[in-house]
Amino acid sequence: METINPATGEVVESYEEDSASDVGSALERAEDTFAEWREVPIREREQLIEAAGDVLRENEREYAELMTEEMGKPISQALAEVQKCQWLCDHYAKHTSEYLEAETHPSPPGTTVKTVYDPMGPVLAVMPWNFPFWQAMRFAVPYLAAGNVGLLKHASNVPGSALAIEEIFEEAGFPDGAFQTLLVGSEKIDDVLADERVRAATLTGSGPAGRAVASTAGENLKKTVLELGGSDPFVVLDDADIDAAAETGAWARNQNGGQSCIAAKRFIVHEDVYDDFLDRFVEECEALTVGDPMDEDTDIGPQAQSHLMEELHEQVEQSVDAGANVVIGGEPLDRDGPFYPPTILTDIPQGCPADTEELFGPVASVFSVADEDAAIETANDTQFGLGASIWTEDRDRGQCVARRIDAGCTYINQLTKSDPRVPFGGVKSSGYGRELSEAGIKEFVNRKTVWTE
Ligand code: NAP
Repeated sequence: METINPATGEVVESYEEDSASDVGSALERAEDTFAEWREVPIREREQLIEAAGDVLRENEREYAELMTEEMGKPISQALAEVQKCQWLCDHYAKHTSEYLEAETHPSPPGTTVKTVYDPMGPVLAVMPWNFPFWQAMRFAVPYLAAGNVGLLKHASNVPGSALAIEEIFEEAGFPDGAFQTLLVGSEKIDDVLADERVRAATLTGSGPAGRAVASTAGENLKKTVLELGGSDPFVVLDDADIDAAAETGAWARNQNGGQSCIAAKRFIVHEDVYDDFLDRFVEECEALTVGDPMDEDTDIGPQAQSHLMEELHEQVEQSVDAGANVVIGGEPLDRDGPFYPPTILTDIPQGCPADTEELFGPVASVFSVADEDAAIETANDTQFGLGASIWTEDRDRGQCVARRIDAGCTYINQLTKSDPRVPFGGVKSSGYGRELSEAGIKEFVNRKTVWTE
């Protein structure tokens, strides 16, 4: 496995893939460690999670630079990602005992009945490259805290991040084998998942990858959580604060180079405020700096890999060929590396990629709609259902609209974002199950009934 810095085209590092026997040993270690780890009192697990947060804090610059080198994320956003992982550790260090407290049920006189939350065993996580630390930690921290052990198959372009995360848990004092990285390609995943020592799987990534993992897991009767793609609506109603919507919208679309599942992708704007919004939105997008991701002032770095930018540009070209109008951007920048500028498309014909597909880069599709009902209809006219953002000065109206949108998470006058305290996940082709908060930690536990006469 070779990692290539997308900003410079240089090879960062080469890694040897794990052999079948390396994977076998890792699975054995996971099983042995689980037997021991599940007996560790929750308070001690919380303390180790806290220590993992400290390791992140001590090395945050190093981890941020690693991500920027491997996938081109601007350094300021990489630092923010490491800090968010620290917050995640602090959260579960404080709340795991409370989240996993046994629940008592009404029962006949003389009996007690409760539900306890036992861990399930080794959990396999298949993770994407776009938030190399956050996505993996978002799985690892709650599931380890619950007493499971973790096996990470990270995306093939971020092996350095994958190994660094394994080291974080080692340094924090977790037992050997509590969290292991498998350096393998996706073609090896079926065998790992079918192995009886692996009890469940979670995948964050594209629809095809999610379907493949869910299908193998289904054949082997293993539970899965899937966090897949999105084409999130950003709905601007006629009474919205247009300046705030345009400013937040530009960031919601373009942060992380636009490579975020919960980025605002389809801007659905009431016709009465369409022109005002578009003018302000163009201004905000044009103010973003595209450039060297190691520069603290850069807003948008390179796309993570050249072929990903080429696929994005093809989607733009197909949409333009179908009749979409390019307001700004629309062509790769004339410089070395896969740099794509903020791009805004309007007059988007039904059925073209900018209407129906996920655009995983800094390209916004803007639609004009006649009224609130049309806004909701357009928002729901997609295979996806991850997040949604609604802009209105009337918070009750915003909440009513939120209830009518098919999405796992809705935000009123705020961009869609994940937060350790709040359940996160999607519906429809965006996946199922929830991560984070109490809901997340309870995805991979055995809710065991204990009835005592
Ligand atoms: P991807 O190509 O699906 O890869 C994600 C992971 O799945 C990688 O580790 C990949 O391994 C593995 N994989 C790919 N095909 C597989 C298969 N057939 N069987 C088993 N594993 C397989 O996605 P990506 O390009 O890395 O990430 C972008 C996608 O992830 C977007 O659609 C984005 O919206 C979504 N995403 C969703 C969330 C969320 O929380 N809902 C968060 C972030 C990203 P290799 O790298 O070795 O191919």
